[in-house]
Amino acid sequence: MSSPDTPPVRRAPAHEAMNQFAVREHDLLVNGQPLSHLAARVGQTPFFAYDRSLLRGRVAELRSALPKGIKLHYAMKANPMPAVVGLMAGLVDGIDVASAGELQVALDAGAHPAEISFAGPGKRDAELRQAVAGHVLVNVESARELPVLARASQELGLPARVAVRVNPDFELKGSGMKMGGGPKQFGVDTEVVPALLKQVAELGLAFEGFHLFAGSQNLRAESICEAQLKSYELAVRLAEHARSPVRFLNLGGGFGIPYFPGEQRLDLSPIGANLAALQERALRELPEAAFVIELGRYFVGEAGIYVTRIVDRKVSRGQVYLVTDGGLNHHLAASGNFGQVVRKNYPVTIGNRAGPGEREQASVVGPLCTPLDLLADRMDLPQADIGDLVVVFQSGAYGRSASPQDFLGHPHCVEVLV
Ligand SMILES: *Cc1c(COP(=O)(O)O)cnc(C)c1O
Repeated sequence: MSSPDTPPVRRAPAHEAMNQFAVREHDLLVNGQPLSHLAARVGQTPFFAYDRSLLRGRVAELRSALPKGIKLHYAMKANPMPAVVGLMAGLVDGIDVASAGELQVALDAGAHPAEISFAGPGKRDAELRQAVAGHVLVNVESARELPVLARASQELGLPARVAVRVNPDFELKGSGMKMGGGPKQFGVDTEVVPALLKQVAELGLAFEGFHLFAGSQNLRAESICEAQLKSYELAVRLAEHARSPVRFLNLGGGFGIPYFPGEQRLDLSPIGANLAALQERALRELPEAAFVIELGRYFVGEAGIYVTRIVDRKVSRGQVYLVTDGGLNHHLAASGNFGQVVRKNYPVTIGNRAGPGEREQASVVGPLCTPLDLLADRMDLPQADIGDLVVVFQSGAYGRSASPQDFLGHPHCVEVLV
């Protein structure tokens, strides 16, 4: 890769960067490309850049840590960029979609319909019909969906493939976002699943399994293992009420990534061991079931950066402000306004001044007329000036598509897969 006179590649120091991106001279490298060159190639800031080699590496790492036979699904709402979905479709076993719009992207990406599943509350009748026509698995979240699916199935002369998404009577401990347990808009409460399964059979729908999703952004392997065990045991109990065997058991995901100081990367080895033990039990208890793990953020989050250029540098009563051409309108999550209870800084650096050099405390703000437009609050950063490139790490998931791009009428950002 390097000619004799290129300086050696080294890892960025942990205090200023997540170390998955290497640094050469002062430039962060995105799949080997120096950030300054990449910015010139993209032709505008702000942009999101996703690193193919990191995406491939993450899938490979999961494959080696989890037992054979576990199906990995990509929950594409984390990053629906068509090029990313296309890459992921070739690496994982299936794609999980949450709308008919995502379904189109997944099919365009070449995902096999047999391995696409469609979950989400409030599926419109037209979306359910599209799912039947597309031969994809519908994770039913409400009894209302059943007759709609049956009608579409009759009209089209195609089977309606269904799994039941269960709202379990437990939650995933220590999750950033809880999506199961207690009253929820997601899934069907455990206690009404038997009646629903009866209806599935009466309507002649093709029952294929269960989907349990207890929560997301969890960094504690023990909590994930506990949720998987409880989900498995619940599925075994519920399977007694089904008239056909369970073929898919989607045990959810919830694997988190570190964003903030002190957070440690998730330890996959106990999760692998736990799943192997459950597979062993399933040989007897659910012999036809394949386990599915569905992940969004864990696949893509660490592989992406958000890049925005400094357009002004101001000092207000001693405090340095780096004002950039992008902010919460492109990256709501990094501003702390996407489900964070207490605002914390995402990992940020100056991508063309990485490595040793002068440092100072500075805040990074966007151009919007609201104090919420804050990307870094008084962080220790390489000293930066107008024209430099601010990089926000851990930005591959819930970035552009989860942000209010039109708010205040600034130009939209672009995305590149490198
Ligand atoms: C959002 C969602 C996911 C992905 O969550 P991550 O935290 O990004 O892994 C997976 N499954 C379902 C049902 C979801 O709603």
